[in-house]
Amino acid sequence: MNKEYNKDNVFYKIITGQINADKIFEDDFVIAINDINPIAPVHILVISKKNYVDFTDFVKNASVEEIASYYQAIDLIAQKFALQEYRLVTNNGHDAGQSVFHFHSHIIGGIKMDTLINKGL
Ligand code: AMP
Repeated sequence: MNKEYNKDNVFYKIITGQINADKIFEDDFVIAINDINPIAPVHILVISKKNYVDFTDFVKNASVEEIASYYQAIDLIAQKFALQEYRLVTNNGHDAGQSVFHFHSHIIGGIKMDTLINKGL
């Protein structure tokens, strides 16, 4: 059974125009915005336009076209901002650090990063 999607979240409000955001890319499937609290010189959030709670919900319930388009958009955004090397993060659930329960990924770049675990990312 799907987890219940709650529209009372900031990304739903950004997608539906109730809240302004620093939008840097949009296509049929995603919008991308600059993170309001960046942890690196480049910190972009790629947000699914359709409502999924998290990665698990997305990968189980989105169409193959949606899933492919989502990841192709990430590649396009990286090209648009001339990012050759970056970290792509999706926090899947509370214990993984997810705080907004609308599926999204973080593109983090512009600095030399260390290994992932216990580095606070
Ligand atoms: P996560 O913790 O993986 O769910 O990521 C949520 C991200 O959303 C955090 O990095 C926040 O800084 C970011 N965030 C929260 N509200 C906004 C907003 N209004 N505009 C841009 N980024 C936001």
